[in-house]
Order: sequence, then structure tokens, then C-alpha cells
Amino acid sequence: MSKETKKTKMPEQNPKERISNFDEVTLGYSAEDAINEAKRCLQCKNPLCMQGCPVEIDIPDFIALVAEGKFAEAAQKIKEKNNLPAICGRVCPQEEQCEQKCIVGIKNEPVAIGRLERFVADYVRDTEVIEGVMKQEKGKVAIVGAGPAGLTAAADLAKVGYQVTIFEAFHEAGGVLTYGIPEFRLPKEIVKDEVDKIKQLGVEIKLNHVIGKIKRVDELFEDGYDAVFVGTGAGLPRFLGLEGENLNGVYSANEFLTRVNLMKAYRFPEYKTPVYVGKRVAVIGAGNVAMDAARTALRLGAEESMIVYRRAREQMPARAEEIHHAEAEGIKFKLLNNPTKILGDENGFVTGMECIKMELGEPDDSGRRRPVPIEDSEWIMDVDTVIMAIGQSPNPILLKDSPEIETTDWGTILADDRTGKTSKEGVFAGGDTVTGAATVIQAMGAGKRAARAIDEYIQGSNK
Ligand code: FAD
Ligand code: SF4
Repeated sequence: MSKETKKTKMPEQNPKERISNFDEVTLGYSAEDAINEAKRCLQCKNPLCMQGCPVEIDIPDFIALVAEGKFAEAAQKIKEKNNLPAICGRVCPQEEQCEQKCIVGIKNEPVAIGRLERFVADYVRDTEVIEGVMKQEKGKVAIVGAGPAGLTAAADLAKVGYQVTIFEAFHEAGGVLTYGIPEFRLPKEIVKDEVDKIKQLGVEIKLNHVIGKIKRVDELFEDGYDAVFVGTGAGLPRFLGLEGENLNGVYSANEFLTRVNLMKAYRFPEYKTPVYVGKRVAVIGAGNVAMDAARTALRLGAEESMIVYRRAREQMPARAEEIHHAEAEGIKFKLLNNPTKILGDENGFVTGMECIKMELGEPDDSGRRRPVPIEDSEWIMDVDTVIMAIGQSPNPILLKDSPEIETTDWGTILADDRTGKTSKEGVFAGGDTVTGAATVIQAMGAGKRAARAIDEYIQGSNK
């Protein structure tokens, strides 16, 4: 056991260089770094870290294998529970999950569980062989949506002997991992690799299939599927309803990031799908999505890229690491400011944004101090591009044809937290479409729980 009080540092690209490329910012541990970090683990008899992992990885066991230099075995241990470890190791908010519970974290920095997970997943990337694919005899399951929720449910069901087909609306699988999170945080090659390994388990992925348009949920049952899992995410952008929101130069973060990631706008002219980015960009919001949009705008040539947020710094919802990376890259933070109007010229292009200054009042329902406008404090921000990153809602396409699936007032699907069961017989749901915009690991946890419940449901119906 090592006496090191701090996490082994993660090597990363220099901020001055990385703002002009889309290569990954963090470079990953070396074998020596990984072993040193693994030796910080106390191998607790009651490993609290595991309570913080929604997909139930046997964390101390995998870390013990890393400490012994048995990296392939460590990867195998993780894969028993998690089919997307190279992804989770990069984007999961470990500081709020396993690492928050780690005993070492009481006095020192917790063990860098996420960085170790990433290291072993990358280590076996090119060498791992998927063995022992189950015969698909237990029944047929349709999964709608190839994001982390759908992929996890599909992999877990294939592993126990189901014939699984995923129907995905886009021309690539991965959900937000592919179209939302930028290349410099999560290379698409990594996503493709982990999706390919799920296909090797026997899962079929039908791309360009929008359920609700091409087929209704009822038709999936008519096609012989015994159960349906809905993991359609929350991809419908929200706007503020401001004057000027329809001007040229106003995007939703969703559209902006999809154009860059999925349509590869950052590789124009090799890909013939450019995206317009002006010189001065304001991104409204302060979550991970906002940080991604602001950092992407900078890499696409913006001279100034700003986060505009109506609350204060401590209330910003983005991961601490993402805020730190954004600041190091030169993103400016205009906190306690709320946009009130977007201004344009006679050709319909953005020329500025009116904002009002805010102060913090009493706590609201979320427990955070409510931002209150300061009277007569309006001012004009000199910007030519505005990106809205204020949240997303579930897309209602699938639900229009299946009114029996009950939803909340927010448009999210009502599903049992433990099983994912919806109000429609044989239909289960999980991930952002149930919780609203949340995290990769929460979506995966929901996919895992639903897979278990679907197995029980089908086996129960077959009795
Ligand atoms: P999604 O990933 O949204 O996948 C849903 C899939 O369903 C999509 O592929 C969609 O095309 C498909 N679909 C939708 N409707 C249909 C239909 N009718 N028929 C067929 N297919 C359909 N979380 C983190 O943990 N860490 C981060 O750093 C992080 N950063 C983020 C950055 C951005 C820009 C965004 C947008 C989100 C981020 N998140 C992050 C949140 C995280 O990505 C989501 O919580 C997670 O992807 C939700 O998974 P899901 O499977 O429920 O949905
Ligand atoms: Fe290791 Fe921390 Fe888990 Fe204990 S809680 S087993 S120290 S990772």
C-alpha cells in the first residue's frame, strides 16, 4: 500500500496547443502510473466505493489486479459488469459516484478509480477477444435507442441468451456518446470499438430506424419481440423563448454539437458539412453540455468563447474537471447574468445579446439560492453567435403512437425505478428518457436493471 496522498497526475495536452486541435485532452496513465495509483487502494473489507457504482463493478478486485500488473485480467473483471469501460473511464462523474465514497478520500484524495478503469480498458482495446457468445434461445427483445442505456440493456440480455435487436434513429450508434460529447473528451474511435464489442456478443443494430415513424411499438410485438426496452434519451433542445432566438447565429447546443461530432464539421473540407461560428460566442448554461459547446467553439476558431450563467460559480452543474479544463483553455465566465433579448441586423444575423445582472436570493425548490434580476441593470454583450445549453427534454416521436405509455408533465416516461417497467405490458424504459438529462452511468445502471427485469418478465410469461 502506498502512502501517496494525492491521485497520480493525469498527463494531458498543453492548453495552448489543444485549443487548435480536436485530439483528446487527457492522455491516459502509463503502466507505471496505473500500478502506483492502484497501490493507493486499501482493499477495504467493506468497499464503500462499490456502493457508488450504479453498474456494480467489483472495484477492489479489479484494482488489486492492476496493482499486480495483471491488466488484461483487470479488464475482464470490469467487463463482467460494465460493457463500456473505456467510455465510463473518460466521462463518468466519478467524483460524485465511486470516488466520492472511497475511504481514502476521507483524509486524502480518493483512489483515481475512473483513470484506472480507462487505463485497463485502453490496454486491452486491440487485443481483447469476445468469447463464449451465448446461444440466443431465451426469447427476442427489441431495444429502441443505441445510447448507453440501450447498449447496456442489449449487452446484458445477449450475455444471458436473448436475441437482441437495437433500433437506432441516427446513422451511427452511441447516442450522446457519438453525437454530443466532443472528440477531444471522448474519441469516436473508442465509442465505435465498444459498440463493436457489443455487436460481437450477437446484438444486431439497425441504424436509420426511427421507432414511431418506421414502426410503432405495437408492431415490434407483432414482429415477434417478447419485450421492448425504450432508451431514447432526451435529445429535444429547450430554448428560453427570447426575442431574437430565431436569428442566424443562434443554435441549440444539441444542433451545434451534432453538426460538429456526428457530421464532422471540424474536419471540413474533408467532410462537406461546415458549421458557422462567429468571432465572439456566448453559450447560455453551465453544465457539461455548455462546457463542451464553449470549448468546441474555441477550437473552431472563435476569438472569444463565453459561458453566460444566471447563478454563481458554486452552482455550476458541470463536472469540476470540465470547468477546470475550460478555464485553462481561456473560456470566460460571465456569471450572475441572464440573457433577455438577442439582437440582430437587417440581414437577420446576431449582433449582440442583452443581459440583465442577477443576484442570489433565498433558496428555491432545488435547495440552491434563487437568482433574482437586479433592476435596471441591463447591458449589451457584444457577440455574434449564441448557443443555448439550458437542458433537453425527451423526444415525443415514439410516444405519439403509443399513448398507453404514461408520461410525466415533463414529457419523461413513467417507469419503475427498480425494473424500468412502464404502464404498457412488456415495455420497459430507462436512461434520460425516464430521468430527464442525467449521466452516462445512470443510464447504464437503468439499462442493467431493466435487462434483469426483462429476463424475469419473459421467463415468467413462458412458464
Ligand atoms: P442517449 O445517449 O440520448 O441515446 C438515446 C438514443 O436513442 C440516441 O442514439 C437517439 O438517436 C435514439 N433515439 C431517440 N429516439 C428514437 C426513436 N424514436 N427511434 C430510434 N432511436 C431513437 N454524462 C456523463 O456522465 N458525463 C459527461 O461528461 C457528459 N457529458 C455530456 C455532454 C453532452 C454534450 C451531452 C448532451 C450529454 C452529456 N452527458 C454526460 C449526459 C449523458 O450523455 C446522457 O445522460 C446519456 O447519454 C443518456 O443515455 P441514454 O441512453 O438514456 O440516451
Ligand atoms: Fe479501494 Fe477506496 Fe474502494 Fe476502499 S473504498 S476498496 S480504498 S477504491
